[in-house]
Amino acid sequence: MASRPSPVVEEILKTVKQRVKWSGYDKQAVEKAVSKFVAAIDVVRLHYLENCVGCAACAPACPYYYVDEHYSPVNKAEYSRGVYRKKLTFAGRILGPLVGAWIPKNEKDLDRVVELVYRCTNCGHCYYACPFGIDSGSLVQGLLKIIATYSGRAPTIIDVFAELEYREAYLEIEGLMMPWNMVLKKAEEAIGKSLPLDKKGAEVLLLPWLTDAMFYPGGVIGAIKAFEAAGLDYTLPSRPWAVRPPIGVVVGRMELAKATLERIVRRAEELGVKRVVLLDGGFPYPWMRWEMPKLLGRRPNFQVVHFVEIALELVKQGRLPIEPDDTPVTWHDPCQLGRRGGVTEEPYELLRRVARNFRPLKHRGVHSICCGGGGGIGCMNPEMIAEMAKLMGLEPDALYDGEKEKKFIEETTKAWSIAVKRKIDEIRESGAKIVVTACPVCIHSISGGAKLYNLPVDVKHIAEYIGERVKLKR
Ligand code: SF4
Ligand code: SF4
Repeated sequence: MASRPSPVVEEILKTVKQRVKWSGYDKQAVEKAVSKFVAAIDVVRLHYLENCVGCAACAPACPYYYVDEHYSPVNKAEYSRGVYRKKLTFAGRILGPLVGAWIPKNEKDLDRVVELVYRCTNCGHCYYACPFGIDSGSLVQGLLKIIATYSGRAPTIIDVFAELEYREAYLEIEGLMMPWNMVLKKAEEAIGKSLPLDKKGAEVLLLPWLTDAMFYPGGVIGAIKAFEAAGLDYTLPSRPWAVRPPIGVVVGRMELAKATLERIVRRAEELGVKRVVLLDGGFPYPWMRWEMPKLLGRRPNFQVVHFVEIALELVKQGRLPIEPDDTPVTWHDPCQLGRRGGVTEEPYELLRRVARNFRPLKHRGVHSICCGGGGGIGCMNPEMIAEMAKLMGLEPDALYDGEKEKKFIEETTKAWSIAVKRKIDEIRESGAKIVVTACPVCIHSISGGAKLYNLPVDVKHIAEYIGERVKLKR
């Protein structure tokens, strides 16, 4: 039984319930959504919209193509092309459906849009498979999602967290802050001294998000142990600066995303650090490293790197004393760190140096198979929703807009359970007993998939794996 929600949770739920509508068709809302869709088209997306030849070479790259062939990248992206043709092409305006121009015009159309949007993880694999470099994920996640969200079809759970992050309201929710406070306490015990919190002028800022503390506290502690062992001049925030930024992008709410990133950049600049180290190798990595300067219109005064990059640097410099490991280990490339983030070599080089029995997967780097959980799909399952509701003092039903959304979430979980299988089969083939990776969604998805398909394997964050083997000077 959940405890009572705090006034801040009730206030956020009220805001979200006003804009999330899983039933009906609101013509005005759809028109507004279509205008936002048009505004989000830039010259790169114009290429993606204009130059597909329909060869379907992208289809086998997509994790959701194995759930249903109608979920192939080109099929999903075609819905974005339909809206583009209808609004921005002469032929589309005059000839409509004859030239594939389309716009959602009833409840069924909106239901189809949201279904396709949440059968894409934004993994970017289709982009690498396409001979013309067309990023169908960008057309689905960056454009079609705008239609879904602004027409009312946003998953309540994600919209609530987007709002919690934007307002920093999670700081007032005891259940959500518990893992953060716990991880700081355990880290102090692990290093045997006080943490260098909020220290101005440090060289490095280790920047864990609230979800890092929730999903892999061992990763946060491991990174702290590694920095201590290497004698780095580092600091970390005494309270989380975000839940998992910018969550707004997961539901296409760019205004929330921008405000959150501005706040993070301002704080890091106030501390005067030279480098910001992230543990999360999911979407926060490309957003903090590559998209943030574009969104804010300026470069920050610090460099953003992932933990694997700095750990490799320290190992190469002989500053990180590590006890080598003999367990069969493999690495899963998070799509956002690898394909979308450009960190494709460092994890392999690092693991070759610390794991004597390293077994890279058959498909790796930019060709890695997606775990099926990205794009918001990972938190769209009844168990996760019930768990989050409990932490906020809510009943699970409070995080659904009625039976229709609940059914959609259940169907999404079923689709994920098929999409994850290829990844699990490949891990099984490698013979690894430990899978290391760097994203909470990948960890959750691969652990869940391994359980579902009876694969006895331990899935952990790379910082936890390194931290367990670091020799601390006392
Ligand atoms: S980005 Fe990934 S999940 Fe989305 S359509 Fe492309 S291959 Fe499929
Ligand atoms: S997106 Fe590229 S690979 Fe896919 S159908 Fe179009 S041209 Fe072919």
